[in-house]
Amino acid sequence: MKSTKDFIFSELTGFYERSEIDSFIRLVFKTLFGYSRKEMILFADRRLSSGEREKISGIVERLKKYEPIQYILGTTEFYGLKFHVEPGVLIPRFETEELVDTIIKQNKNKKVKLLDLGCGSGCIAIALKKFIQESDVWCCDISDTALKITRENAMLNGAEIHIVKYDILSRDLFPETGFDIVVSNPPYVTIKERSVMQKNVLDYEPEVALFVPDEDPLLFYREIVNKTRGIMADSGQLFFEINEAYGDEVSALIEKYGFYTTIIKDINGKDRFVTGTL
Ligand code: GLN
Repeated sequence: MKSTKDFIFSELTGFYERSEIDSFIRLVFKTLFGYSRKEMILFADRRLSSGEREKISGIVERLKKYEPIQYILGTTEFYGLKFHVEPGVLIPRFETEELVDTIIKQNKNKKVKLLDLGCGSGCIAIALKKFIQESDVWCCDISDTALKITRENAMLNGAEIHIVKYDILSRDLFPETGFDIVVSNPPYVTIKERSVMQKNVLDYEPEVALFVPDEDPLLFYREIVNKTRGIMADSGQLFFEINEAYGDEVSALIEKYGFYTTIIKDINGKDRFVTGTL
């Protein structure tokens, strides 16, 4: 095991920072063999089979092409839960855990009906269902791959949620009403921001989940408020993840629909969430 670790290090040096290679090694050993950090030290002398070593070489080759480790291993963690991910759904981000955490803290013991628009891997909807026990959770996506993966992840986590195919940009209304909470992490990266994005995101993650036109960065927020205002309960709440550049604009937009808004910063001090209360 020790020499396999050294092999991964020497192969990936020059491609990634040391700390990143360290975390790849930990993830690979945890996912492939179930080893914790402590067990990695304990079993440092264990001999890997040739099959195991081949598997690891394959992973290293894919990492050299900057493919995200979560897609290679097919799994990731979000809010302490395990999720299957593959190309076609966005890899859950740490910021989104902060969004989920805010909703859970405010609603932990309430009986709430929730809707997540653009569910991707299902991470938001499933985490909310798991941690707000009395909740009735609905989620939707336009992508069949996303719906399939959300279904898988709901099973994996034992979360009973409603999964619906729905296009936020269509003329149709969502086929259910009475939501206390509407949450969304819609596409919000503008095309002009492509030039400052990482290769692993641009080459592998789904564009449909990321990008909005430069000339209409609030596209999804406008469509969502427009369509969900009518299906929300009287004291309904909105929770959005946003592009850090548009906090004031998103806030002003949803105030027009009668919401009192708050802009919340993420752990890096950037405007990342807007909440609205009717
Ligand atoms: N935060 C994501 C990123 O930086 C974007 C998520 C989104 O568009 N909703 O890649």
